[in-house]
Amino acid sequence: MQTSSTPFRLGLTGGIGSGKSTVGQMLVDAGAALIDADAISRSVTAPGGSALSAIAQAFGLDFITTEGALDRDRMRTLVFSDASAKQRLEAIIHPLVSLATKAQAQAATTAGHKLLVFDVPLLVESGRWRAQLDGVLVVDCETDTQIKRVMARNGLSQGAVEGIIHAQATRSQRVQAADWVIFNDALSLDDLRAHVHQIMRDLSCKV
Ligand code: ATP
Repeated sequence: MQTSSTPFRLGLTGGIGSGKSTVGQMLVDAGAALIDADAISRSVTAPGGSALSAIAQAFGLDFITTEGALDRDRMRTLVFSDASAKQRLEAIIHPLVSLATKAQAQAATTAGHKLLVFDVPLLVESGRWRAQLDGVLVVDCETDTQIKRVMARNGLSQGAVEGIIHAQATRSQRVQAADWVIFNDALSLDDLRAHVHQIMRDLSCKV
């Protein structure tokens, strides 16, 4: 149950190049706290990360680089061909990500934020986030627009961007999981900001 001192926990997701980060920054500019699930996931397996000793115990030191981080290439190769290894890795990483996420959310709540935005690119795909959120905002756009934006931003080929898009949830799967959708196609940045502010007003958060 939401109370005046309990912030609203908004999940933010969308396909590659849809404009999630742009929307996330607009929410932050308007007073929200942003919690970046990808950055947290990377940090637990970076040098000194909280998952490393358990990974070394479960998989051996061969999976730790000389810098003391998870050897992502080696692990990717293993989990690609071994579903039980993938489960063991996730059983180590997910609780640590969850702990770090809760700690960041608590710090933002203590700092007085009324809106916590959880930027989770694979929110729909992973399925484990929804129960921890009060609502989901999906940023959507045409597939052609995604391709053009990511080719321009990352210098990737059309085929490479299409490959990433096909590995993600479909637009309709994402939209079905949404409480709010921003269709960020042919929208100016000012118009996009106006949509973001309208959602914050819907949530009774300051703009
Ligand atoms: P990724 O999944 O790759 O992290 P993303 O969903 O976070 O992508 P952004 O990085 O926010 O997407 O946007 C992709 C690119 O499109 C960026 O270069 C951004 O500046 C641009 N962009 C997004 N929305 C608009 C818009 N309404 N008008 C102009 N440019 C936009």
